[in-house]
Amino acid sequence: MSIILVTGGAGYIGSHAVLALQQAGFNVVVLDNLVYGHRELVEALGAKLIVGDTSDRPLLDDIFSKFNVAAVMHFAAYAYVGESVSDPAKYYRNNVQGTLTLLESMINAGVKQFVFSSTCATYGVPKTVPIPEEHPQNPINPYGASKLMVERILSDFDAAYGLKSVCFRYFNAAGADPEGRLGEDHNPETHLIPLVLLAALGKRDSVSVFGTDYPTPDGTCIRDYIHVTDLANAHVLGLQYLLNGGKSSTFNLGNGNGFSVREIIAAARQVTGREIQVVESDRRAGDPPSLVGSSDQARKILGWQPQYADLHQILTHAWNWHLSRHQLS
Ligand code: UDP
Repeated sequence: MSIILVTGGAGYIGSHAVLALQQAGFNVVVLDNLVYGHRELVEALGAKLIVGDTSDRPLLDDIFSKFNVAAVMHFAAYAYVGESVSDPAKYYRNNVQGTLTLLESMINAGVKQFVFSSTCATYGVPKTVPIPEEHPQNPINPYGASKLMVERILSDFDAAYGLKSVCFRYFNAAGADPEGRLGEDHNPETHLIPLVLLAALGKRDSVSVFGTDYPTPDGTCIRDYIHVTDLANAHVLGLQYLLNGGKSSTFNLGNGNGFSVREIIAAARQVTGREIQVVESDRRAGDPPSLVGSSDQARKILGWQPQYADLHQILTHAWNWHLSRHQLS
């Protein structure tokens, strides 16, 4: 029986994709080095977990020889924008070199379908909003640059080796599985929504607002928050598109609505009914003022329809997850 190899399947987005794949009837094997991933998420889903690294060529060759892999979904990557500025070597080594090793092992094994987690950070500071896929890509941080390098590698690998890929450029993944089986748990946590909810829970004293002098209506950064389950479902559609013979393609995944940092905090106060203390801080290196995406192509070509586009719903699912993780423990 053929399987889908999911790298980074013990992480936040990867684990939601494993669940979506299983619900669509696919068999999944997860490869995760567990540096940031959680073994218990994969175990809860009943998927096979191989602990290891995408830069481990002998391990990859062994996986491809043991399992009948139909396609690879590649989530394993470092994804902290700020850290990528202070330690770019870590990002290029893992995100670029690790992916290259994975792709070479795939080609060697004759596996030629690849779904890739790219990012809106490849666009840099947008000239037009909402950003379409054909917008120029000029990343302003090494994280975005590392993902763009992989996009270029994929394009060259299609031309040379016939590797077919779907690249998804995500905007800001948020929320949690609506049924509460999975959620967001980074260590260290740097993402806005979980930090705001941890402050609401009293697990943190306050949340910092990074920059209040951006050229936006309230001076804080604007982002397009997309429900992680909607992201995961798009990956299944992207995979099915490739398995049905689709050509290599790139799709934005966002809701097309931007919310400022202050708007997120205000909405979180409403959803949680709790006070959230705010500290205004300096800008964080590598942050563009506004990132909002057009996902028309994913709707048109993949038939993708977000089910949870409402910000309050996204925050409610994230809040329920945090309540169950933190208050009961
Ligand atoms: N942000 C913030 N305070 C925090 C964390 C993030 O003001 O403690 C801002 C950050 O500068 C960005 C937005 O919230 O403008 C979303 O950041 P996050 O790290 O969640 O996602 P990213 O946009 O980096 O993928």
